[in-house]
Amino acid sequence: MVVVLEGSIRTDHKERIRSFLESKGFRVREIVGEQETIFGAVGQPTIDIREVELLPGVERVIPITKPYKLASRELRKEDTVVRVGPVKIGGNRIVVMAGPCSVENREQILETAEIVRRSGAVVLRGGAYKPRTSPYSFQGLGEEGLRYLKEAGEKTGMPVISEIVSASHRDLMAEYVDIFQIGARNMQNFELLKTVGALGRPVMLKRGLAATIEEWLMAAEYLLAAGTDDVILCERGIRTFETYTRHSLDISSIPVVKKLSHLPVIVDPSHATGLRDQVLPVGRAAVAAGADGLIVEVHPNPDQAMSDGPQTLFPEQFEKLMRDIDTMSAIVEKELARLPSPHSEIRLGSAPQKGASQAVASQKPGSTDGKPVDGVAVAFQGERGAYSEIALVRYFQHENAMPSPFDSFRGVFQSVLDGTSTYGIVPLENSLAGSIHENYDLLVEFADIKVVGETQIRIEHCLIGLPGASIDDIRTVYSHPQGLAQCRRFLEAHPGWTAVPFYDTAGSVAFIADANKAENAAIAHAEAARLYGMSVIKQGIETNPRNYTRFAIISREELAATETPNKASIVFATPDRPGALFECMAVLAERKVNLKKLESRPIHGKPWTYMFYLDLVIDDVAVFDAAMLELGRKSEDLRVLGVYRA
Ligand code: PEP
Ligand code: MN
Repeated sequence: MVVVLEGSIRTDHKERIRSFLESKGFRVREIVGEQETIFGAVGQPTIDIREVELLPGVERVIPITKPYKLASRELRKEDTVVRVGPVKIGGNRIVVMAGPCSVENREQILETAEIVRRSGAVVLRGGAYKPRTSPYSFQGLGEEGLRYLKEAGEKTGMPVISEIVSASHRDLMAEYVDIFQIGARNMQNFELLKTVGALGRPVMLKRGLAATIEEWLMAAEYLLAAGTDDVILCERGIRTFETYTRHSLDISSIPVVKKLSHLPVIVDPSHATGLRDQVLPVGRAAVAAGADGLIVEVHPNPDQAMSDGPQTLFPEQFEKLMRDIDTMSAIVEKELARLPSPHSEIRLGSAPQKGASQAVASQKPGSTDGKPVDGVAVAFQGERGAYSEIALVRYFQHENAMPSPFDSFRGVFQSVLDGTSTYGIVPLENSLAGSIHENYDLLVEFADIKVVGETQIRIEHCLIGLPGASIDDIRTVYSHPQGLAQCRRFLEAHPGWTAVPFYDTAGSVAFIADANKAENAAIAHAEAARLYGMSVIKQGIETNPRNYTRFAIISREELAATETPNKASIVFATPDRPGALFECMAVLAERKVNLKKLESRPIHGKPWTYMFYLDLVIDDVAVFDAAMLELGRKSEDLRVLGVYRA
């Protein structure tokens, strides 16, 4: 059962409830969520729940109807986020684990680790104990393989995952692996589950070849009941009558499990299909269906792999898969997980903005301890719940990021400059409405501020109203003029409504919450509804769903990225003579530097003269540096606004 505790419960009452439940034979887990703290009481005892309801400090008691308890969404409403070193699995991220089926030798795993890291994997896989169908097949290198795997993980900064096949290997493996993998063939090896679960470390549980979803969740329950909170589920295909593919990926299990359970779900398109040309489409489909990530087999020479070669990707195929899912991530409202870089690993201990820290810490994503923590302020423009804040939370992927709202873009730049905020996030461009020129101008004006990263989010507008209000109650709709314009078709279908422009999308939600009238609605992101206690009446009301906004992450120059950059933003003016811009562009063309964007802006104080903003792809830093040197000679006032990883 779920025992929801009162918000202001006294410590002695809490302990009394716990000992009462334990005295009746329940095992009690305390779970601190964003909205409430609960005791999850699991076990066989049958008691009258009214006995618990009457205890002081108990708000309400909800029985868990499913046979799996700790794994159930009934127990925990929020997604579980499993932390493995710097990587977080679950929530709004797509985590990619990659590596060979088996560790074959030291060079092979070191080389593979480099390859998959370069393309964006954040966890390294590699089998050392292989559960092979034939006893005559390669069985894995055992401890030697684990040693190489750990070395490769450390060299590339990735945590490692490897399969455990025998309970007797647990303590040995604990020295080497960050995530224990329970293979499909062992999903119902309950002794193994109990032994591994008792260690309290992250475990990835693959679905058995012929296991139902309920059996799979019951196996997860064994791990959780044994003592670990960090269970990741892995759909890897089930046995069906189909013989063309190795197994059949049960794509629908992803939304089903995400509804039934709070645990993250990773998909293994390699073992599911058994054929490398199907890994890409099936991997993309898994992400589209809501998977929290993928685990993929990659080898420098798949044709020579000692196990599972036919389903193993060539490095170029893996790179393509990563690029595809990176592109898809904004559509599924997620961000591809990255390893910490100078700007995503937030420096603890910097001074947060006064007043912002408490409010934000109490509703930060992924917080389960409920305690406000010190963090680093990231400035954004708008009210809480604004699209900039959504982008910020996704990009930084760190619960210590403290969004600090500012009224104006200038305020964001100023607070980064004076150090009140360590980073800022500003929109540069919307795919429908075009550039946000003010921010281009501010990038030039604030010469000590650099672009250190970029991110994009999909803008999915919602009609938001008072809880309980229906679409028929609505008379007036408030939003930022852009929000109203982007939902034109939806608004035209309701000719009786009055559309009222407002200074901010999230601000319009705060306004209707305050006015407290069922006839008012706002257009904003669903998160704004949650933040202000309002309800989403209709989701996805924008006329064109291909609506994205691209943001720059800014910081003071000394915090500029040191990660290998792949993009640069520059600005320059040209002499006033024929062919001047052409000559500048030729510098880039001759070096095959790809131009992603060109934008011109008037130079302030010099009517009818212009600066040019360029976004460039960096394939080779040395080539880029040489191009800038030459461009500096051909142009006027060249400035590199930022060199960063996009
Ligand atoms: C593996 O991941 O190497 C493996 C053997 O997977 P499964 O247990 O899904 O067959
Ligand atoms: Mn394999």
